[in-house]
Amino acid sequence: MNPAALDGEPQVLTDVPLAVDPDEVLRFQGYKKGLDVPPADVRALFEAALAEGGLLMEPRAVVRWLPVGRGAPDALEVAGTRLAIPGIGAAWGDVTHVAAAVCTIGDALERRVAALWEARELPLAVMLDSVGSGAVESLAEYVNDAVCHGGLAAGLRVTNRISPGYWTWDVAEQRLLFRLCPGDAVGVMLNDACFMTPTKSITLLAGAGPAARVDHYFSQCARCWMRDCAYRRAPASRTVARVDGVRPGGGS
Ligand code: SF4
Repeated sequence: MNPAALDGEPQVLTDVPLAVDPDEVLRFQGYKKGLDVPPADVRALFEAALAEGGLLMEPRAVVRWLPVGRGAPDALEVAGTRLAIPGIGAAWGDVTHVAAAVCTIGDALERRVAALWEARELPLAVMLDSVGSGAVESLAEYVNDAVCHGGLAAGLRVTNRISPGYWTWDVAEQRLLFRLCPGDAVGVMLNDACFMTPTKSITLLAGAGPAARVDHYFSQCARCWMRDCAYRRAPASRTVARVDGVRPGGGS
């Protein structure tokens, strides 16, 4: 593939075979990976919420590759839009393209959480909400892997992902990201306060280029689901894609 193949229209990913990372869910419950072990009752609640959440979520994403017009230490110019991101030049190095994406699991899970709150079934409501948060984080990782694979196929190294409201990037620039990659293709809307609905949605931006910085980025490969990637820098331990109906980390 040639880099020109990346300059295109928004691409919608549906039917994503998502495997929710249990560590992500438990992190939202306050458990630290490798340090805290949830007791049996929490584990049972987690399994029940994961099973119910799996029926409610509809993981999907829209991804759009765009060329970078001009880079600067604290900004990227993309399709006539200037993204002000302090430190981006040092973090990503020289990037020629970006991939912008909006990811969501839909709104059925959050509506069920609201109903559980109404019914005062609080432990399940809180755990199901954590399942939704963990799921959309896992989905963003899944999309990041797909973007990395697509960039590599075009001869480009792909950086880690960032989002408005995290790291140094002002949340107000969520509007600019939506201008580059409209979320309505997957049913995600943005209000005046830069709040997305459905709430279990994440935006991301990754940079790419022949000389992009990826030297600080090995953890991405460690849980990437691209099994046959020729560029893998670390063996995969746990992934966010289902394989033959088996959920990584146990269960099916
Ligand atoms: S294995 Fe590593 S290099 Fe290959 S697509 Fe996944 S994250 Fe990218």
